Amino acid sequence: MYRYGMYYWWDPTYILVAIGAIICLLASARVNMTYNKYAKYRSMSGMTGAQAAERILHSAGIYDVTIRHISGNLTDHYNPTQKTLSLSDSVYNSTSVAAVGVAAHECGHAIQHHKGYMPLTFRSALVPVANFGSALAWPLIIIGLFFNSQTGSLFITVGILMFSLAVLFQLVTLPVEFNASGRALKCLETNGILGADELGKTKKVLKAAAFTYVASAASAILQLLRLVLLFGGRGRDSD
Ligand SMILES: [Zn+2]
Repeated sequence: MYRYGMYYWWDPTYILVAIGAIICLLASARVNMTYNKYAKYRSMSGMTGAQAAERILHSAGIYDVTIRHISGNLTDHYNPTQKTLSLSDSVYNSTSVAAVGVAAHECGHAIQHHKGYMPLTFRSALVPVANFGSALAWPLIIIGLFFNSQTGSLFITVGILMFSLAVLFQLVTLPVEFNASGRALKCLETNGILGADELGKTKKVLKAAAFTYVASAASAILQLLRLVLLFGGRGRDSD
């Protein structure tokens, strides 16, 4: 037990957690920078994020989604249970190419939901499982450390598997996010909301936003790797 006990927060594998945290920080700084840069470009059509969202949803035959204003910075999201599309302060009333892009991205999620896009359905089903898994992973591993022999390694193995569910959730998020941005750009073009030059700018904003999900997934994988390095071999050397 003492091999893992009080020192485990400071073991060398903690560097993996630190790398993951740095990647996430850089990604989030980059999306803020990119957004602020393109928030200065007013779109030619002059539509606000909210107006663009309404046009895109209607053109996709979606009339039962409520578009609403929420506070915060880049807190925009689509809620499939309530069928609400929430747009933040800097998106709802803004006519910038960045704002319209974010609004269209959230519409991308609403269209995925409307069309029963499989990865989104799978991701929604994974939410409670992933929350359960990430909440239980460390407690199970710590309980496992109190036992010697097979009982301990069983707890640890189940703990690591629980954490894997959270990693799986992050991975499934990637195709959902990329697809929503792809749909967004297409809708902005076909509805005449943005011109070709503007689309290029919006694409940069959406790319930076997508990278934050790549960073989260990479960070989750690094944390899983750390668990495996720390505890994966315990079943073998504990007897
Ligand atoms: Zn999204």
